[in-house]
Amino acid sequence: MPEGPEIRRMVDDIAGAVGERDADAVFFAFERYKGFESALSGRRVASVKARGKAVLVFFAASDDDGPWCVYSHNQLYGQWRIGRAHSLPATKRQLRFAITAGPRAARLYSASDIRLVRPDALDTVPYLARLGPDLLNDADVDDARLLQQLDDRRFSGRALGTLLLDQQFIAGVGNYLRSEILFVAGLHPKQKPRSLTTVQRQRLVAATRGMIEQAYRLKGITNEPDRAQRLKAQGQSFRARRHRVFGRAGRACYDCGTTIEKSTIASRRFYRCPGCQSN
Ligand SMILES: [Zn+2]
Repeated sequence: MPEGPEIRRMVDDIAGAVGERDADAVFFAFERYKGFESALSGRRVASVKARGKAVLVFFAASDDDGPWCVYSHNQLYGQWRIGRAHSLPATKRQLRFAITAGPRAARLYSASDIRLVRPDALDTVPYLARLGPDLLNDADVDDARLLQQLDDRRFSGRALGTLLLDQQFIAGVGNYLRSEILFVAGLHPKQKPRSLTTVQRQRLVAATRGMIEQAYRLKGITNEPDRAQRLKAQGQSFRARRHRVFGRAGRACYDCGTTIEKSTIASRRFYRCPGCQSN
């Protein structure tokens, strides 16, 4: 499942294809939105934004109607494809929503959670209403805001290994980021926010921001950038050089040489260095 940084890069691609252009055609698979196909055609795609793992496509107002936003969440199966306006990609997936603008099109396949919402009513979408601070897509989320989450009574008594996957805690963190953030912070997954020292809290916030921003900038690479480059020059595959601990069970920790261990936390695989993350 794509995590926040992957969704954000997808949003950049959608915006590059149809953003700030007039939509020539809009398609909805769902009967309840069929009437909006003609209502949205001809309108400008004002912007495309990510919020956590959701994608928002904003349509400008027309002469006689206000602006609209198409909210979508890929869940496990949804997939956006960018392509040419007049040739459909070869796929057996079901097309659910599409925008054609000029020579290009952005098409969403298989996703089932698609809603047409007024931009000022986005808080009525349950996923968005519950979403925690989104540091990748909201410039107002500073470190103080993230530290505030650690003090929040909903989160302070929960183990970081499960807490980091909770989108209400911090938006956009998924499974590989969870392992990488805790490794960089030097924290055991059983640690709870309320028992962290001041230094540990600051390390956790810095690691969270650092890993999310790096994963976005370097297309999913969370390994130390110079090391990832060096491993690439040595002929290692993307998968082998991509992460610091995630997917590296049985291999030596880059920092201390201890063997990386794999476990299951919240039903998903988790990786940790017992040397670097003993407490
Ligand atoms: Zn280590």
